[in-house]
Amino acid sequence: MAQHSDIVIRGDGIVGCALALALANLRLRVGLQGPAASATAPAAPASSEHSDIRAYALNAASRQLLESLRCWPAAEFVTPVREMQVCGDHGGQLTFSASHLPANANGTPPALNWIVQAHALQTRLQEAVHFQPLIAPLQADDAGSQASASLLVAAEGQASASRAEWGVPWQAQPYAQRAIATRVRCALPHGQVARQWFGGGDVLAFLPLGNAQTGADGNLVAVVWSVSTERASTLLAADDAAFCQALAAFSQHALGGLTLAAERGSWPLQLARAGRCVGQHGTQSWALVGDAAHTVHPLAGLGLNLGLADAASLAQVLGAREYWRGVGDMKLLRRYERARALDWLGVAGATDGLQHLFAQTGEVWKTLRNWGLSGVDRSGPVKHWLVRQATGLTS
Ligand SMILES: Cc1cc2nc3c(=O)[nH]c(=O)nc-3n(C[C@H](O)[C@H](O)[C@H](O)COP(=O)(O)OP(=O)(O)OC[C@H]3O[C@@H](n4cnc5c(N)ncnc54)[C@H](O)[C@@H]3O)c2cc1C
Repeated sequence: MAQHSDIVIRGDGIVGCALALALANLRLRVGLQGPAASATAPAAPASSEHSDIRAYALNAASRQLLESLRCWPAAEFVTPVREMQVCGDHGGQLTFSASHLPANANGTPPALNWIVQAHALQTRLQEAVHFQPLIAPLQADDAGSQASASLLVAAEGQASASRAEWGVPWQAQPYAQRAIATRVRCALPHGQVARQWFGGGDVLAFLPLGNAQTGADGNLVAVVWSVSTERASTLLAADDAAFCQALAAFSQHALGGLTLAAERGSWPLQLARAGRCVGQHGTQSWALVGDAAHTVHPLAGLGLNLGLADAASLAQVLGAREYWRGVGDMKLLRRYERARALDWLGVAGATDGLQHLFAQTGEVWKTLRNWGLSGVDRSGPVKHWLVRQATGLTS
């Protein structure tokens, strides 16, 4: 007989797992559907295999949520970022430092954000899900459990099948770009500095991996390089040495010679948003979270932070509900939709604006954007405000 769940979540990526754990902490019974959730044992330990070579820049709000779920990965998989350097394509430069942020209660130096290895985070969440008795793994064809749940949540990523099934409009503008992710070892140490370069519409990020506290050498960086679709094909087909030479040239040789330390993966990029993120399909209430609700360019490293904030917000709204409201109550779900609308618009506007600003050709645009970068660098209040946005400390 199908087990009754209060809420069924379709999709067991990072956002789906985090939401399931946050809801179980509210004593709600959750059905979680997805390939990892229905496996009989948790995933292999994080160090054994890099199934996802990406590393995520996570902000303070995401860290707070993951810590509250006891899912913040071990120190060896997390690198605190002490400084961020952004370089334009005509001499403009902007530097953010954590030095003026308040010190942590435990005496560790403050960080702008943390670079977290994707596979370690996924493994940590899947283990926690596996051992939480209020979360039941569901098979895709477990129709009984899904029909009896008061709320269905899609956390299926950008190609969400449930969103299509529920007839939710999806406005998507593909960028003519792909993001290439890999890892490289650098001749010079990264110094826990995250670096980003803009040039001719392409964007390259070097995210530091390893730090003195964990005894790692501090020369390894996670790479995210967003380039035109044609250039992506060329770079993916290039041999390791040619790829590293192109990478070193684009990064202005800031970290010296580079050696490839992982395979290369690539992702298509788009700006997309669902027309609604809560609603009813027949009598069944539904909600969207994470990339199923919105997808942004990775240049600011904000997509997962947005998705985790969705999970925190939906759990907060359901946890604070009046005793007479069920979890599928539309008034309640609209509170979640309203709570998230501004954040989504802000991040989508900022990342899309930056992408387009740096894609413009012509000397006037070049001068303007580089002048803007250096201008912000010299402006104390604007810079301070940007740091608080990037860290997720918006109050
Ligand atoms: C190169 C790159 C770098 C990035 N870097 C950053 C960064 O530094 N910081 C940041 O915040 N964000 C970053 N992002 C964005 C981030 O990867 C996404 O926002 C995030 O992975 C979305 O998580 P999700 O759980 O919503 O979706 P997904 O990660 O897509 O997970 C969806 C899950 O649902 C499962 N699923 C799909 N369909 C079904 C179904 N019908 N039933 C059951 N299960 C289903 C899938 O198997 C998958 O496990 C980056 C993105 C890219 C491409």
